Amino acid sequence: MRPIDISIVVPLYNEEAVFDTLIQRLTKVMDQAKFSCEVLLINDGSIDKTDQLIEKICEKDTRFMGVLLSRNHGHQLAVSAGLAYARAKQGVLIIDGDLQDPPELIVDFHELLLKGYDVIYAIRKNRKESFLKKLAYSAYYRLQKRISSFNIPIDSGDFSMLSRRVVDTMNDMPEQSRYLRGMRAWVGFKQIGFEYDRDERQAGETKYSWSKLFELAFNGIFNFSDFPIKFITRLGFLTVLFSFIYFVYNVYRKIMYNDVPQGFTATILAIILFSGVQLISLGLIGEYVLRIYNQVRNRPLFVIDKIIQDGKVKEEIK
Ligand code: UDP
Ligand code: MG
Repeated sequence: MRPIDISIVVPLYNEEAVFDTLIQRLTKVMDQAKFSCEVLLINDGSIDKTDQLIEKICEKDTRFMGVLLSRNHGHQLAVSAGLAYARAKQGVLIIDGDLQDPPELIVDFHELLLKGYDVIYAIRKNRKESFLKKLAYSAYYRLQKRISSFNIPIDSGDFSMLSRRVVDTMNDMPEQSRYLRGMRAWVGFKQIGFEYDRDERQAGETKYSWSKLFELAFNGIFNFSDFPIKFITRLGFLTVLFSFIYFVYNVYRKIMYNDVPQGFTATILAIILFSGVQLISLGLIGEYVLRIYNQVRNRPLFVIDKIIQDGKVKEEIK
């Protein structure tokens, strides 16, 4: 068998509606490519027929490999499972299953990979999504850029090509709350953006609920930034400084004019203010403690139900 140059990782959660189109597009891309490919179809605990469709295509065409997770683990972990099983020598393409990202770009990405880039990440020129979502994304990416400890490119999603050594490094990163585009940027080496038009989802509904989206956004901020906790410390110092000035000012008024009221309002205000500050601080500390907790539990990232490789079902490989 020819060695595999590129692995294509596709996470799938209830995608039976796009499945056939997806397979057609991917097959065409593989037939035309000058390099050899495998496709890893990750079933992220779908409750429709996605798993059966995966098994069928894997038995028919051995370039397809199925990785069936035991339940829904979420997009980031589904992709992580794909990265763990990708066998390609040169690199891995990560792509959504709903065809919002054109798989045909693999040719351009592969060229850049051969030119020595380790990470080729796609930048969305425009988005065909609701106004509210666009606004939220744009605000989020800009906030993240301002406060991250290092540079995570704006408007780039998970759609990207990663070199073998980047994938190996990411596979060795044990963090539980995974934010792949942050981890990818963290690894370093030569990285380059590639602008493209993001299409609309070809069929079916979005599988990212607002709550999943919020979780992703939180991981992006808290996993890659110390800013929130540093901000709280600074706020604490400022508050102390302010109260000191306030105290000196009141002493001055008392001595010079003797007009300081027997303040009830001030007391209440102070109590509210400081309770607020404390609550925020506790919440933020909790954020980090939660992450420590998740990490020290050290669970495996995902659980595999079944692997279909080279047209055969395997319970365990590797
Ligand atoms: N996905 C997944 N597990 C999930 C949610 C989504 O594997 O829990 C997959 C989904 O099937 C798709 C990709 O991740 O291939 C991106 O999801 P989606 O298109 O729903 O997200 P959006 O583009 O709306 O942000
Ligand atoms: Mg989508």
